[in-house]
Amino acid sequence: MPIEVDVAILGGGPGGYTAAVRAAQAGRSVAVIERDKLGGTCLHRGCIPSKSLLRSAEVFATIGDAAAYGVAMPKGKPLSIGRLSLPAKIISLSSSIGAYSL
Ligand SMILES: Cc1cc2nc3c(=O)[nH]c(=O)nc-3n(C[C@H](O)[C@H](O)[C@H](O)COP(=O)(O)OP(=O)(O)OC[C@H]3O[C@@H](n4cnc5c(N)ncnc54)[C@H](O)[C@@H]3O)c2cc1C
Repeated sequence: MPIEVDVAILGGGPGGYTAAVRAAQAGRSVAVIERDKLGGTCLHRGCIPSKSLLRSAEVFATIGDAAAYGVAMPKGKPLSIGRLSLPAKIISLSSSIGAYSL
C-alpha cells in the first residue's frame, strides 16, 4: 500500500534518524526507509560496538598481565577471548531499542 509523506529518508543511521526527528519536530510527516537495522553503522558495527571491543581487549591484556599487579591467577585454565563480542552485542541491542523509541 503506498503511503504519502512530506519527507522520505533513505537510511536509518545517525544521519537518517536525526534528520527524521528534526523533520518531525518541524511538523512534517516522515518515513525512514532502512534496509537493515535502525541505528546504522554507528550503533551496530562502528562507534558503540568498537568501544566495547576495545574495552574487552584492554581487560584481557590486563588479566594477562595480572602478576605484574600482584594478582595471582588460577593455574591450568588458559584465558579465553571466545565470547569477546558478547558485551558489544548487548550494548548494540540496547542502543537499537533506544533508536526505535525515538
Ligand atoms: C569501526 C568504526 C568506529 C566508529 N567510531 C566512531 C566514533 O567513536 N564516533 C563517531 O562519531 N563516529 C564513529 N564512526 C563513524 C560513524 O559510524 C559514522 O559517522 C555514522 O555511522 C554515519 O552515519 P550515517 O547515518 O551517515 O551512515 P550509517 O550509520 O552507515 O547509516 C546508513 C544506513 O543506511 C542504510 N542504507 C544504505 N543504503 C540503503 C538503501 N538503499 N535502502 C535502505 N537503507 C539503506 C544502511 O543499512 C544503514 O543503516 C565509526 C565508524 C566505524 C566503521
